[in-house]
Amino acid sequence: MSSDTQGRIATALAQVHDAVEAACLKADRPSDSLSLIAVSKTHPAEAVIAALEAGQRHFGENRVQEAASKFPALRPDWPDLQLHLIGPLQTNKAEEAVTLFDVIHTLDRPKLARALAKAMDKTGRRPACLIQVNSGAEPQKAGCLPDELEALYRLATEETGLEIKGLMCIPPVDEAPAPHFQFLRERARALDLPWLSMGMSGDYETAILLGATHVRVGTAIFGNRPPASATR
Ligand SMILES: *Cc1c(COP(=O)(O)O)cnc(C)c1O
Repeated sequence: MSSDTQGRIATALAQVHDAVEAACLKADRPSDSLSLIAVSKTHPAEAVIAALEAGQRHFGENRVQEAASKFPALRPDWPDLQLHLIGPLQTNKAEEAVTLFDVIHTLDRPKLARALAKAMDKTGRRPACLIQVNSGAEPQKAGCLPDELEALYRLATEETGLEIKGLMCIPPVDEAPAPHFQFLRERARALDLPWLSMGMSGDYETAILLGATHVRVGTAIFGNRPPASATR
């Protein structure tokens, strides 16, 4: 790996840490009440290693295949690495996903809850799950609709026995994110769920002020992704 890449990523991470600290201070919360997830999708294993060497431990990927090609080889050297699935999951990949990931942020339908429960029984792995809520009710976007959340939560906990730790959302790109973050926080409170996965490079400070426990930051740490993958 070039020391260039390493220096660039270490510097960017330090800047994000400073901004996270400042937001936590402003929100009057301890900075250990929050996990910074470095979103490494489209970036090579070298970039992940650079972040690991700079002390980063939580990583996010949005595709099972891509995560499978990068992360298993790193686990032996970095046993405390935590891998988060933040992209849509097909039921036929549920088993691979529970094997690879420590946290799944994108549970969004009953069929997937059943597939995950089955895969967990089979593999003995039990990643924590969050329910993704399509807070803007956008037709093309993954996530359950706000109206479906309560029923999905009941099914996941009572019928399939999944451990649901919290909620996740990706606000519409053309709207102010704060109302979506507030909405997610209210819904999590109503269900007594401790985790809130919200906030990306452009809005993680706002998300922290509104109670995020997991922020998912890619570009601000690893730099720009190739344009074709920007919306993945
Ligand atoms: C890509 C992605 C991110 C990171 O986005 P940046 O704007 O690069 O920080 C966060 N969350 C999800 C679900 C993503 O797909």
